[in-house]
Amino acid sequence: MIAKNISFELIAERMGRIKPSPTLAVNSLATRLKAEGHDVIDLGVGEPDFDTPENIKQAAIQAIKQGKTKYTPVDGTIELKKAIIGKFARENDLHYTPGQITVSTGAKQVLFNALLASVNPGEEVIIPAPYWVSYPDMVAFAEGKPVIVSCPADKGFKLQPEQLEKAITANTKWLILNSPSNPTGAAYTEDELQSLAQVLLRHPHVQIMSDDIYEHIVFDGFEFKTIAQVEPRLFSRTLTVNGVSKSYAMTGWRIGYAGGDEALIKAMAKIQSQSTSNPCSISQAAAVEALNGTQEFLAINRETFEERRNMVLDLLNKIPGINCNSAEGAFYLFPSCEGLIGKRTPEGKIINSCGDFAAYLLEKGLVAAVQGAAFGMPNFFRISYATSNEVLKEACHRIAKVCASLS
Ligand code: PLP
Repeated sequence: MIAKNISFELIAERMGRIKPSPTLAVNSLATRLKAEGHDVIDLGVGEPDFDTPENIKQAAIQAIKQGKTKYTPVDGTIELKKAIIGKFARENDLHYTPGQITVSTGAKQVLFNALLASVNPGEEVIIPAPYWVSYPDMVAFAEGKPVIVSCPADKGFKLQPEQLEKAITANTKWLILNSPSNPTGAAYTEDELQSLAQVLLRHPHVQIMSDDIYEHIVFDGFEFKTIAQVEPRLFSRTLTVNGVSKSYAMTGWRIGYAGGDEALIKAMAKIQSQSTSNPCSISQAAAVEALNGTQEFLAINRETFEERRNMVLDLLNKIPGINCNSAEGAFYLFPSCEGLIGKRTPEGKIINSCGDFAAYLLEKGLVAAVQGAAFGMPNFFRISYATSNEVLKEACHRIAKVCASLS
């Protein structure tokens, strides 16, 4: 009764700082169209189409049978932390103690915890664009200031050392690096990381968040390196983030992890202790098997993705008005649709932006892709090729058809 007379805003002001994830929004639109009976091809998804390997599933089943169904330590079981320490040592030559490791409900929560635990109001976080959609919003939610540095296609969508030097101020807290990248697939070579490291060594107050979630999905013999490995003097300033979602086709299991400074890791656990508590106990047991068990399927998956990348790249670059860089890794391509901006649809609508193009593609071509503006780079769009060759061929055919009908 009394509440009726009190004027209040239900939604907090801080919610004004963020927007819903645009990739998930495309996904739900495509799902809705499908439910309405439209034959939509969804190239908006950010997950491998492969099933989780059998040995990992079996480990989860065993965990259930053994009663591993209770709360675990907030930021991960010791078994999983040991498996993560082993993985970092084996694959990245990074050497952590259990106190320097955290486990969360996906790499997304790791990044969220890290930013929330470390960024003071107004502190700056350098984010090279095109970027993964969540970085700027997470920084803004933490009351930080995202500093977006545009990295164009002709520089391989990669941050250049002189750009980094220019972007750093006394207020810079973090640089976020993501290699291989979502949305471009671009990956930094050892030399390129070393050049960025030289700049970072001159600015000891800048911390580095290295998002390596696509580490295992690299092509043409590309040798993956992470920045703390390339420049050990940056080890103590780097939070190396990874997870099982992409490499092990485990997106739904929700396990991400990181290695970094012990004080930061502790602060991240504190946030987790007051929000979600431990990540799923069964998923943690499965992740132990993912990291310690056979790694055979990694190469098989990599080959499949490489074949698809080659095919889609070739088909896209045959479409007049579309121009696409190759990608060193991940399972995305990021073509330019600049050549189609200003054109007119058969219905007389002008394509004024990549958002208009993506909408036209979905409406007329029934292909869901995400507009480049969502990743901080207009005039592009992202497609995920984590689906079968037949579907990809049909999607490229549809894209070509709707592009050809623009005048
Ligand atoms: N980082 C990047 C670059 C991603 O693309 C994603 C997922 O799309 C994540 C982090 C989060 O992965 P997860 O929370 O599934 O571990």
